[in-house]
Amino acid sequence: MIISRHQTGKVRTLRNLAFAFLIPIYFGLPWFRMAGHPLIRLDIPERKFYLLGNVFIPMEGYFLWLMLVTAGLSLFFFTSLIGRVWCGWACPQTVFTDMFDWIGRLILGSKYGKKDAPTIGKITLHATWILFSLAGSLVWISYFADPYLMLADISSFKVFTGDVTWVYFAAFFTFTLYGDMAFVREQFCKYACPYARFQTVLMDNQSLNVTYDYVRGEPRRKGKEKIGDCIACNMCLVVCPTGIDIREGVQIGCVACGKCVDACTDIMAREDKKSLIRYMAQDQVEKRDSKISWLRPRTALYATLLLIVLSSAAYLLNNRVPLYASVLPDRNIPAMQIPGGRVRNFYNVKLQNMSLSDQHLKVEIEYPDFAEEAILLVGGEGNSMVTIPENSMMDFRIVVETGILQKEDIYKKNHFILIRFIDPKNPKMLREKRVPFTLPSDLFGMLDE
Ligand code: SF4
Ligand code: SF4
Repeated sequence: MIISRHQTGKVRTLRNLAFAFLIPIYFGLPWFRMAGHPLIRLDIPERKFYLLGNVFIPMEGYFLWLMLVTAGLSLFFFTSLIGRVWCGWACPQTVFTDMFDWIGRLILGSKYGKKDAPTIGKITLHATWILFSLAGSLVWISYFADPYLMLADISSFKVFTGDVTWVYFAAFFTFTLYGDMAFVREQFCKYACPYARFQTVLMDNQSLNVTYDYVRGEPRRKGKEKIGDCIACNMCLVVCPTGIDIREGVQIGCVACGKCVDACTDIMAREDKKSLIRYMAQDQVEKRDSKISWLRPRTALYATLLLIVLSSAAYLLNNRVPLYASVLPDRNIPAMQIPGGRVRNFYNVKLQNMSLSDQHLKVEIEYPDFAEEAILLVGGEGNSMVTIPENSMMDFRIVVETGILQKEDIYKKNHFILIRFIDPKNPKMLREKRVPFTLPSDLFGMLDE
């Protein structure tokens, strides 16, 4: 574990502002509601994903796929433009490590990270870290469970009865977060993060990154001999949370936190010079005062792919029908013949209203395979209107009955009917299902006689 030296400066201030924006979002989002439902929540037991007033179900998994592809392509695009900005400025691993460091400095002051820090101070620090990890993990769980219900479980002491499942997850995530922040920290970025492994192939010499100006800096000072601008003070190394030397070039271990930028800016200011480590492109080191070319084949390709995926997602969202319908022949009640030579088929219907308002739907059928009129009985009541309350699922049975007059109808192998669910006031709210209509086997024998 490395607890690097605290460093103030312009980059630190900007990162603090970014964190002041991101941390309330992380801690606050699960508490917000839209039309009485969570603004964002992945409800695993209910198998629903709430997002900004929409409810997605597993059958709409392609939206999740689009979200993942968008996230991946955005990472590619922004990495090719501005390097590992995600790592240093928005990744929870980095943001939380900085928060834990802030708590450390608050409790131990200048003794934070030092071996001779007072024992009582260290105990207080670790206890505070555990409490903070508990808060962080409760918020994390609130993205999957109702935080208001969790609060009620806490205030009613139900959490101590062992009946509340989320408590076990809270314990697991608390100790994972505490273990990570207290003992692993940015070493995770260096040795375990998969993004770190391939970020170098996403960048080129025009990507904006934390870069050491070796043209000015080298050869660095050796003893009293001073040739380049680098005075070999090693402050860039001392402040680095992953313990790397940025002067050796772009490395997997660099999380682009910019602490070395602030450190070198301080040092070089004393010499009345510009920092040797800055956010710049590799080409700008060699071709001084050259401008970064933002539009390059690589950035154009990522931007085009991102635009295609985003437009597809926007199109699908715009044309999304928040109604799921499943119609299956009832396996428990076979097709039957009733007096009058008519035939009945039974179907089990599942309708899921994925909107946040009630849906009033008309059930209709089409029966092009049959000459005689077909009758539809919904729920055995002959009522073809159904109401599905907001954000809920409804199961019911429908019966379709038709008369078979012509022998050709019977011997025609596959019969199908079309069952339609439509909101008469909003024709866009429509689902259609083509289902088989089976004839009872005794019908064939009867007609052959
Ligand atoms: S902080 Fe700047 S001057 Fe000091 S060692 Fe690093 S690059 Fe050289
Ligand atoms: S090299 Fe600089 S930017 Fe990279 S992790 Fe270390 S301090 Fe941060």
